[in-house]
Amino acid sequence: MEFKGKTVIVTGAGKGIGREIAKMLVERGAHVVALTRSAADVEALRGESGCRAIQVDLADADATREAAIAALPADFLVNCAGTTELQPFLETTVEAFDRLVAVNTRAPMIVGQEYARSLIKDSRQGAIVNVSSVASFIGIPDHAAYCASKGGLDGLTRVMAKELAPHGIRANGVHPTVTMTPMAVKAWSDPEKAAGMMKRIPVGRFAEPADIAEVVLFLLSDEAAMVNGISMPVDGGYMIA
Ligand code: NDP
Repeated sequence: MEFKGKTVIVTGAGKGIGREIAKMLVERGAHVVALTRSAADVEALRGESGCRAIQVDLADADATREAAIAALPADFLVNCAGTTELQPFLETTVEAFDRLVAVNTRAPMIVGQEYARSLIKDSRQGAIVNVSSVASFIGIPDHAAYCASKGGLDGLTRVMAKELAPHGIRANGVHPTVTMTPMAVKAWSDPEKAAGMMKRIPVGRFAEPADIAEVVLFLLSDEAAMVNGISMPVDGGYMIA
């Protein structure tokens, strides 16, 4: 898949899966505009891969819209930024719930709106990939806010797919299982918990960021021209186990 001359907005490109998506896109000829939070990551992205990097806290709706507009015009959009806080359902706080929904659900809506408006205005086609999680399909203990935020994101993906396809813009969701990134360390560093999860993955390992990035690039590409509105697990068979 070639992305020569294409501009791709990648949120959360500072670390983990988003970083790998940005790297892979640059290797395949794309110009990447990264939207991410930490200043050190912004500097590294500019230095290492020549990405245009915009520093923004995606929990802030106004700042997110401003950053999205500054990132345009773009051919493709990957909403990858995500965050989690582990709390049992009975102890889930309103503050944590709102924070997770703001970053995992509301920010993809805001960035998606500005991206799609710009394409429609210029009569150009495009594609969006929203990075969800297997956590939107199942209930994972201590992940109430996270599961809810990703379920909300899936609903958004499906409406985007219906409303934007007539304008030539496809939207799909990618659902990783545990993937070896800084976020996974936060949720899966307990060896007993990790072993229990691993046992349910028929291919016998957790995902690497590149496993997810390859699928994201496919869904953006013209090779996936007839793929719209799907929720694609990238989980080594976890969902059928
Ligand atoms: P990481 O925590 O490793 O990286 C997340 C990236 O998103 C970081 O660059 C982070 O920046 C950025 N980000 C988070 N919050 C904000 C914010 N408020 N504003 C701007 N940027 C922000 O996560 P992963 O790479 O593991 O996850 C990527 C996506 O994949 C997420 O949507 C996640 O939910 C999903 N996913 C991950 C799985 C896993 O096991 N790793 C499994 C299933 C889904 P900073 O560090 O500066 O805050």
